[in-house]
Amino acid sequence: MDSGKWTKKPVASARSEVLNPIRTTLEKDFKIPETHDKNLINFTLGEPTKANGYPLPDETKEAIIEAVESEKYNGYTHSSGHLDARQAVVDKYSTEEAPFDKDDVVLTFGCSGAQYTVFSAMCEPGDNVLVPRPGFPLCLPITQNLGVELRYYDLDPEDEFSIKLDTVESQIDDKTKFILVVNPSNPCGSVFSKEHMEDIIALAEKHQVPLVADEIYYGFSYDDSKPFHSFAHVNTEIPLITFGAISKTYCVPGWRLGWAIVYNRGGYFDNILANMQKLAMIWLHPSSLVQQALVKILRDVPESYFEKTKAKLKEASDKACEVLTGIRGVKPVRSKGAMYMMVLIEHDEFEDIEDDVDFCKKLLNEQNAFVLPSTCFFAKNMFRIVLCHPLEKIEELGLRINEFCENHYKK
Ligand SMILES: *Cc1c(COP(=O)(O)O)cnc(C)c1O
Repeated sequence: MDSGKWTKKPVASARSEVLNPIRTTLEKDFKIPETHDKNLINFTLGEPTKANGYPLPDETKEAIIEAVESEKYNGYTHSSGHLDARQAVVDKYSTEEAPFDKDDVVLTFGCSGAQYTVFSAMCEPGDNVLVPRPGFPLCLPITQNLGVELRYYDLDPEDEFSIKLDTVESQIDDKTKFILVVNPSNPCGSVFSKEHMEDIIALAEKHQVPLVADEIYYGFSYDDSKPFHSFAHVNTEIPLITFGAISKTYCVPGWRLGWAIVYNRGGYFDNILANMQKLAMIWLHPSSLVQQALVKILRDVPESYFEKTKAKLKEASDKACEVLTGIRGVKPVRSKGAMYMMVLIEHDEFEDIEDDVDFCKKLLNEQNAFVLPSTCFFAKNMFRIVLCHPLEKIEELGLRINEFCENHYKK
């Protein structure tokens, strides 16, 4: 190409800082071996698909086909989402004790879009937000883009990844806009007890810093000792924003539909809700076809579908614990919800493994097995596996991790 007079390249330094650790690992930093005597097994993304043993229920497939065939949903909708689609969210999740209506719902591009909308609506440059570590890292590129500071509070792997509340409290100041909580947790596969949620709420109340709850795994606990509770129901007085999506629980992450629900109790979020609606006018609504499908999906997909999915995830969690327990140098933390498991790495056992990134890179190169280092989730010395895979594949992962460890133990 003849560049002619185009000699000065455009730059936008603030944007060049923006980093999504998972996507960067997958698309840039890690290289899948081009040839290998073992086939690739990829445990990086929470993608419950047919190939991974999670076919869609008929209702979901019919919903999108009907939306296409009706030819009624090829135009624009309201910026915050079609009224019918928002009403479907109300019908599914609003309760008598914790009510909200369709004007409190903004439909977005997946749960990611809900996060971006709420962070943007709530925060100005110089503000800070408290987020969990280990935690889902989308908040990093979002806050980098907005000039907002992230402050990490710690989850305790020794105590089922409950929040170390003192690490929240010590970081709150008058620029703290909200505390982000994720329950059930990606990446930890943990579920909060009701008592723990009450403690978190009490802390938020004491400091008058609202909670924003990422509940994309709504209802997805599969351990009787840890039933799922929504923050909206544990306390029906506090102002609260929750995130949801069909991505994970309905097994269609690629369809890109999520939402934010504003529990605007006492009108506390009046200004923020208005901001969210204005921002929705920039990026406009998610696909009108998927919005229309949402109505049928939320109404017609039977409870038995979730029971089946959760039973499979529980089997996967048990299997992963079984195959990884007893391998010297790694220690799985049993998963009780969502679709992930964290595995602790005991670096002292190994000769030549620097850290979790090094562990995962070498595991990929030597065993063609791809798992994500906990550095992607702001934490050290762990890796995350996804559980939505067939049991044979989880067994195979266990074998490869075992062989890998044997090749790297201290002599
Ligand atoms: C997957 C995930 C998201 C992103 O969801 P999308 O609907 O795919 O945008 C957000 N938060 C958590 C905790 C997740 O696991």
